[in-house]
Amino acid sequence: MIHAAYVGRFAPSPTGPLHFGSLITAVASYCEAKSHHGRWLVRIEDTDIPRIYPNSEQHILACLEAFEFEIDDQIIFQRQRLACYEQVLAQLAELDLVYACQCTRKMLGSNHIYAGTCRNLHLDWSHQAIRLKVNQQRICFDDALQGTQCSHLEQELGDFVLKRRDGIINYQLAVVVDDYLQQVSHVVRGADLLDNTARQIYLGQCLNYPELQYMHLPLAMNAQGQKLSKQNLAQAIQIEQAPQLLKQALQALGQPEVDLDRPRLMLAQAIAQWDSALIPKGTQIKAIFD
Ligand SMILES: [Zn+2]
Repeated sequence: MIHAAYVGRFAPSPTGPLHFGSLITAVASYCEAKSHHGRWLVRIEDTDIPRIYPNSEQHILACLEAFEFEIDDQIIFQRQRLACYEQVLAQLAELDLVYACQCTRKMLGSNHIYAGTCRNLHLDWSHQAIRLKVNQQRICFDDALQGTQCSHLEQELGDFVLKRRDGIINYQLAVVVDDYLQQVSHVVRGADLLDNTARQIYLGQCLNYPELQYMHLPLAMNAQGQKLSKQNLAQAIQIEQAPQLLKQALQALGQPEVDLDRPRLMLAQAIAQWDSALIPKGTQIKAIFD
């Protein structure tokens, strides 16, 4: 089952203000969608409430406005959709694909592969983490920029968490459910999420959702060779510099130059000359902005 129409999305987490790395993702997903005459959606991934950074949601929304992106539907907020995710967990329970896990972080220790300790304990769900059963199947996909990627979830990860013990819905679950409900066909995002993709594909398969196409963009690095991120305090996007930043983002993406103008006009020019084959290969691009 594949999608008939192109639907792309930009899905930032409000765990810090938008930085140049997220701008690159927004611009690339936007130009990819619009150059395919597709729709472009925005989703705020705010289920991890303890990690939400004050005012970062407002900053993201202000940036989207300042850069004059045309969003083709209402912006959705995952925090308001918890009932959808719970419903899907119930559906997975019906399929006998999820179970409660009582292991504490201490019990799990430094072992990154979950051994399935609680798989057959049939524990009550309250105040426990909920894990998805994985199997021996190898998950492969063709990434538009990174080539063929394969993972073996059972050997590399084990049954993984969909809902945390503290009740927080895991990112993996929320992403898969919302991409499906929003009829997203193409995911364009940073290569830091490349190793999450197999989990998301597998979960989508469990739910019989249509397959998505993926493009993982190289990550912008700062002068010290670290990826721009909230963790290393990448500078927040300065809204008043939107045209200059847009020009730099397109340059980082290897695209032909655009004339400095209102962002709306610059984006129109960028879409007209957009060529994803020009995006630098690999998982990193050197910073031109820090
Ligand atoms: Zn367990």
